[in-house]
Amino acid sequence: MKKIQMVDLKGQYEGIKDRINTSFQEVLDSTAFINGPEVHAFQKEMEAYLGVKHVIPCANGTDALQIAMMGLGLKPGDEVITADFTFAATVEVIALLQLTPVLVDVDLDTFNINIDALKKAITPRTKAIVPVHLFGQVANMDAIMKLAQEHNLYVIEDNAQAIGADYTWADGRKQKAGAIGHVAATSFFPSKNLGCYGDGGAIFTNDDDLAHTLRGVVNHGMYVRYHHDVVGVNSRLDSLQAVVLRAKLPLLDDYNNKRKEAAFKYNEAFKGQEHILTPVVVGDPSSHVYHQYTLRITNGKRDDLVNFLGEHNIPCGVYYPIPLHKQKAYLDSRYREEDFPVTNLLVQEVISLPMHTELDDEQITFITQKIIEFVNG
Ligand SMILES: *Cc1c(COP(=O)(O)O)cnc(C)c1O
Repeated sequence: MKKIQMVDLKGQYEGIKDRINTSFQEVLDSTAFINGPEVHAFQKEMEAYLGVKHVIPCANGTDALQIAMMGLGLKPGDEVITADFTFAATVEVIALLQLTPVLVDVDLDTFNINIDALKKAITPRTKAIVPVHLFGQVANMDAIMKLAQEHNLYVIEDNAQAIGADYTWADGRKQKAGAIGHVAATSFFPSKNLGCYGDGGAIFTNDDDLAHTLRGVVNHGMYVRYHHDVVGVNSRLDSLQAVVLRAKLPLLDDYNNKRKEAAFKYNEAFKGQEHILTPVVVGDPSSHVYHQYTLRITNGKRDDLVNFLGEHNIPCGVYYPIPLHKQKAYLDSRYREEDFPVTNLLVQEVISLPMHTELDDEQITFITQKIIEFVNG
């Protein structure tokens, strides 16, 4: 059996090696390392893929979130609501901009932001909602966009984990995750569903004026060379990363399908297991692209399972072990424990299994048998 890895970037690279190596050499020969034609071409290809008017590449997903918030002109003290159960980047940039993060609980089935909790958290100071499409499943955008419209709020999608996922609206229309909110941020970190070979990110929007603002913000607030109209940042995608992304973008749907196939095989193997709850997809199967395949272990033995898998050389991850509202940096006297029952439970139950485009049946059988053996042992 091939060595099991959480993410197999080497195996994936083998399939696109010729194109990447050739294009890398072309960039090296051209020396157009920054803002070269590869970056521009990637931007256009990404716009076409997502069906979004503007893609603004930048240096990483955290920057993308921050720049999106800067572009919307959010001001210190404005409240921004996001999920308690997510990667810290989401809340970090809110705090960095001196906006007020408001963390709310998530749903037990999808792990995405809970709509009732979100409703309850809206105040006259609320300016934006950041839904995170956690582990690759699109949040309930029907409810979120409706609430945003009613309360005049911006929606900033954190699409770092769901690139390529489709959202099916209640009326049957489909849209790509990241093309729905007023603006969206994504990450091209190597292990993401569309990852480059270093850091990278992008901001998406259909709003022409906002896109114009964002293009200045990423570039030191410049719209005319050496005229700094707004406070900006320096955040660029480089040409070598664009080469990787251009090679992978045409394969993204295949890659996501391979993840789905692996997820279905895991689901099948765990069928009927009382203490192993498999991921729940609400609505259309295309709304989940399995950035992570995350189980809930409900017999209280999650941590023991992590150790057991380690002993058998099966990598796994606990995303995320601590709710954000309990993290030192984000403590807030307004939070009450009884408002976070789901996140507080999930951090004790979740475990993410190896998930990538190169998993084979032998590996999946080995992983699932070991888990079932342990949980029933
Ligand atoms: C990865 C990730 C980010 C940050 O992306 P980077 O490129 O690592 O800065 C933000 N939000 C979520 C949900 C992520 O998974």
